Amino acid sequence: MRKPIVIGNWKMNKTAEQATLLIADLLPELKTIPEVDRVVCPPFTALMVASQMLNNTGIGVGGQNLFWESAGAFTGEVAPNMVKEFCQYVILGHSERRQNFGETDESVNRKVKAALAIGLIPIMCIGETTEENESGVTKAVVERQLKKGLEGISKEQLETIIIAYEPVWAIGTGKAATKEDAQEVIGGIIRKYLSSAYGENTGQLVRILYGGSVNGQNAVEYFQMQDIDGALVGGASLKAPDFISIVKAAIKY
Ligand code: PEP
Repeated sequence: MRKPIVIGNWKMNKTAEQATLLIADLLPELKTIPEVDRVVCPPFTALMVASQMLNNTGIGVGGQNLFWESAGAFTGEVAPNMVKEFCQYVILGHSERRQNFGETDESVNRKVKAALAIGLIPIMCIGETTEENESGVTKAVVERQLKKGLEGISKEQLETIIIAYEPVWAIGTGKAATKEDAQEVIGGIIRKYLSSAYGENTGQLVRILYGGSVNGQNAVEYFQMQDIDGALVGGASLKAPDFISIVKAAIKY
């Protein structure tokens, strides 16, 4: 009942010119797979060209961040309506932003609200660090990130949000979580939390993705798991054949 979705996070890779080449490689195959929601998230400078190339193809475009204010003296920041001009989605609270740019659960919450207010679909990222994982506090960390990140969000709004569970130790490391571990956190902690906080029906409607070293080979394993509705893909989303294989793997589950 939840439509699968595969999202490519290009991170700080690809100029606008390089983005046109990657999208040209992705497009012929990706446009033939409407069973899966497909989204690419290029850097800000390539959003315009991405949105032009993907217009009316069924493939979505997402930003990788936004600032919650609507305009003004915020040098270097990008407002929600600027992202909305080219995108339908926006990644928020990615662990690289939490680690390197001081993002907190509170700032993520403000961004989620700003995204919803302008009509963007937030892809809210959560996940524990290596130390947190090793000291056995994954459940507490993930529940805190959900509680604070979603503070003040209504049931109806939550039903449009996408949650990406990305254990920090698995991002860009090639050390992917096992499908059982990913399912245990996504089904046993995240969906359970959402169901108890917002009601069983809403908990069952929210799409929850796994992210962390997903590639063309391992993707299918995650998609077989009951509560995993797709993937947020970093490195492998920069190679057209890999990203296409991941999207195809999502058809079957
Ligand atoms: C990501 O950037 O969200 C990610 C999961 O990266 P990678 O697939 O490279 O681990």
